[in-house]
Amino acid sequence: MSTSIAGGPELPQSRRLVTEIPGPVSRERFARRQRFVAGGVGTTLPVFIEAAGGGVLRDVDGNSLIDLASGIAVTGVGNAAPPVAARVADQVRAFTHTCFMVTPYDGYVDVCEELARLTPGDHAKKSVLLSSGAEAVENAVKIARAHTGRHAVVVFDHAYHGRTNLTMAMTAKNMPYKQGFGPFAGEVHRAPMSYPFREVTAVDGTDAADRAIDVIDKQVGAANVACVVIEPILGEGGFVVPAKGFLPRLAEWARSNGVVFVADEIQTGFCRTGDWFACDHEGVVPDLITTAKGIAGGLPLAAVTGRAEIMDAVHPGGLGGTYGGNPVACAAALGAIELMRSQDLNAAARRIGELMFSRLRGLAERHPAIGDVRGRGAMVAVELVTADGRTPDPGRAAAVSAYCHAQGVLTLTCGTNGNVLRFLPPLVIPEQLLSEGLDVLADAFAATA
Ligand SMILES: *Cc1c(COP(=O)(O)O)cnc(C)c1O
Repeated sequence: MSTSIAGGPELPQSRRLVTEIPGPVSRERFARRQRFVAGGVGTTLPVFIEAAGGGVLRDVDGNSLIDLASGIAVTGVGNAAPPVAARVADQVRAFTHTCFMVTPYDGYVDVCEELARLTPGDHAKKSVLLSSGAEAVENAVKIARAHTGRHAVVVFDHAYHGRTNLTMAMTAKNMPYKQGFGPFAGEVHRAPMSYPFREVTAVDGTDAADRAIDVIDKQVGAANVACVVIEPILGEGGFVVPAKGFLPRLAEWARSNGVVFVADEIQTGFCRTGDWFACDHEGVVPDLITTAKGIAGGLPLAAVTGRAEIMDAVHPGGLGGTYGGNPVACAAALGAIELMRSQDLNAAARRIGELMFSRLRGLAERHPAIGDVRGRGAMVAVELVTADGRTPDPGRAAAVSAYCHAQGVLTLTCGTNGNVLRFLPPLVIPEQLLSEGLDVLADAFAATA
């Protein structure tokens, strides 16, 4: 007999600890995990989850934790969100797979039509659907190379684009993503990013862009560049928001040099920053945009969307994959997008951002360890530094995180130096729960001072 455990928004929206974290049942399950799961797969917090929804994760010991992670910016619409769950259930009963390249179905085309409508710019757009973010980035590079007949790919300091061979080359940070996994794909070149908190010379956004363009011109040559690939707000690299003017100047340079401008919005997309896409904030219109994470409420789906003439540069059969645009994942995406519209999750993200920014700025006044508060909408981070106000302090970030975890608040860290605490609450989190999570964070700073 199977028992059904209800998640979704029905799950009581409160923090409740009935054991230490992790509890005895989670510890036992974790020992089994250690026996059968590859050691290379990491764990942020070793509690096993049995239900989730709204802003809560409930574990197998009966603890309810506040979710400030959304499974890394994935469940913006909430876990087991009703329109997602309903459409997935219907689709699973109808059919689970045909392979879109063998025999097509409407869900795939519906998602591509939504992407054409929602992504920046009102030009003719087409999409290819894939199963992971890294796969989307790989395909964006393939498309840009086919379109331009050029090979070079330009990426930026602190970038994160995935864990496949090409995307490891594009990712900046060695440990843990690249160590021991080379040799890496060639023709990937790195340019300096705009990083306002750590700027020494190029404080202005357009100056920072010119600095990057100079590196590209001198070290690669504009005529060799197929594409620049950039996260409009860095994700794993530390939630760095480039200075105003950086992205528009870079996009303008790409356009005038026949370089495909690719925005990697895998972490920033789908309402996370208070707009459909982070590029929207400065009116930047990328040639290609990669999406994944927030698109389908937790089911694996990713896409490359872009100018029809660039997308169509690839010969028939040149793009695809067995599972890309799986019908169940497409049904989930359509349910998720429906919810983003009906609940106005862009407005929800902006409200979350206002609350987090005001609380975190107050905290920064009391704790000089917080060197910078940054982000946009419901994608917010604090960068921690030592007493000199500059030196990265990853130890403090780990200590604050550990305190939050022990108190039932799931937080994540990021940044090239591991000294950034990032907050990615579900966009449907009740305000009182978010506020309680931030209370615990304040306690964590006091307790680790
Ligand atoms: C997570 C992420 C990726 C990789 O996505 P996967 O689905 O993990 O392959 C690529 N780019 C950015 C900006 C990301 O945040």
